[in-house]
Amino acid sequence: MSRRLDHIAIAVADLDAAIRRFADDLGVPLAGTEDVPAARTRTAFLPVGDTRIELVAPLDGQGPIQRFLDKRGGGLHHICFSTDDLDADMKRLRGLGYRFTTDEPSPGAHGTRVAFLHPATTGGVLIELAEHPGEHPAEGG
Ligand code: ZN
Repeated sequence: MSRRLDHIAIAVADLDAAIRRFADDLGVPLAGTEDVPAARTRTAFLPVGDTRIELVAPLDGQGPIQRFLDKRGGGLHHICFSTDDLDADMKRLRGLGYRFTTDEPSPGAHGTRVAFLHPATTGGVLIELAEHPGEHPAEGG
């Protein structure tokens, strides 16, 4: 299971403006940006202590972040916990009655495999589980 708060994701329409707000105005250091085509997002990473803020913008005006912005405007989008065995966690949580937004894990930023717990089954919070490369027990990391 191996939990830590991997990141807090905030949906933004304008990534550059959001980077200026968090990095320049609030002083949170920017570690970098990454396009995640599988999620149709551009993401900026700002480490804070043992976790990080992720600013997430739509990559091409489509996808779940664009739909979120259209429906609710920008704001807190999801929180993410790390896991060392995503497949086992998905199986266990499904057994407890939780639903995921997809049947299978998908590729996330930094080479992760990720899956999202549906907010309808988590009291309204979209919760991501992320397995980092090398952390799966079968890979010996
Ligand atoms: Zn995330």
